[in-house]
Amino acid sequence: MIIHVKRDATESNIKTLVSNIEEAGFKVHRSDGERRTIIGLIGDTSKVSENDFKKYSIVDGVYRIQKPYKKANRSFQEDDSVIDIGNGVKVGAENFMVCAGPCSVEDLDSTVELAIKLKDAGANSLRGGAFKPRTSPYSFQGLGVEGLKILNEAKKETGLPIVSELMGTDHLDTFVDMVDVIQIGARNMQNFDLLKALGQTNKPIYLKRGMSATIQEWLMSAEYIMAGGNNNVVLVERGIRTFETATRNTLDIQAVPVAQKESHLPIIVDPSHAAGVRYLIPSMAKAAVMAGANGLQIEVHEDPENAWSDGQQCLTPAEFKELMDTINVLLEIEGKTVNKIVQTK
Ligand code: PEP
Ligand code: MN
Repeated sequence: MIIHVKRDATESNIKTLVSNIEEAGFKVHRSDGERRTIIGLIGDTSKVSENDFKKYSIVDGVYRIQKPYKKANRSFQEDDSVIDIGNGVKVGAENFMVCAGPCSVEDLDSTVELAIKLKDAGANSLRGGAFKPRTSPYSFQGLGVEGLKILNEAKKETGLPIVSELMGTDHLDTFVDMVDVIQIGARNMQNFDLLKALGQTNKPIYLKRGMSATIQEWLMSAEYIMAGGNNNVVLVERGIRTFETATRNTLDIQAVPVAQKESHLPIIVDPSHAAGVRYLIPSMAKAAVMAGANGLQIEVHEDPENAWSDGQQCLTPAEFKELMDTINVLLEIEGKTVNKIVQTK
């Protein structure tokens, strides 16, 4: 249930309303938007009626939310969420985040050299897998904590905030200390214990869409994280499994405007894991910008042929630079900007 508050309501009257709602046993999600303040009730609202709140003179309207996601719902918060990643980088509204890097972190020198090139080309964050969810147990599984240390060296050198995938709760504290954004991979989108644990942190989370998940299931996973108190969720569309075999997955470009209609959370697009082949990355990245995405995540490797994972879908640094030059033109049309790095640590 949400309550629209009249524009001329005083702060003390709003506070009284909020404390009465809390006394009735609900948690409150308050959103002070540009157009109005919205009070969202979290809990079992079947026990209350709209009239219980319409009687307050500051209340403009009371509405029940039919969808199962509440905190992630656009009706709970009308303005786009803007999530602060650190070092000057934000994602959401007009802030467009460009996250690039190798599928897996391989070694210190190549990671630092690549990070410098990515930053020069226009990326404002660095991705790299240290714990890898591989289809085969015999494939390279990632460097583990050593990989996170290497990413931190690259961050020291460039200021680029770092994004890396966490696969289970046992390394959660390490990730909270060592990365700027915790990525939850497609295969873990519905690992509810993991999502609940993330809800107890205040780290930005990249929540990748499960390969067979509906948009509603994806938003419910975001809701799990937000229900615990962590509102810093970024949705990542990375392709879904369809009957088509020409590409690794099918990029659901429609998910961008659908998710933005349903939710205030930022949504970024990962064309690399959607396409699974290099030649499609530029066209899909451009399509994502024009569909209104709030960012891109792109795999880049100095020598894709010899990458330890996902080389077939990695761009070279030169190809990434060429793509970014076009992306920046498109972003101007869309009224979005890639924040510059302000190195603070
Ligand atoms: C990745 O980003 O390297 C990855 C494994 O992605 P996904 O979870 O989308 O497959
Ligand atoms: Mn990959």
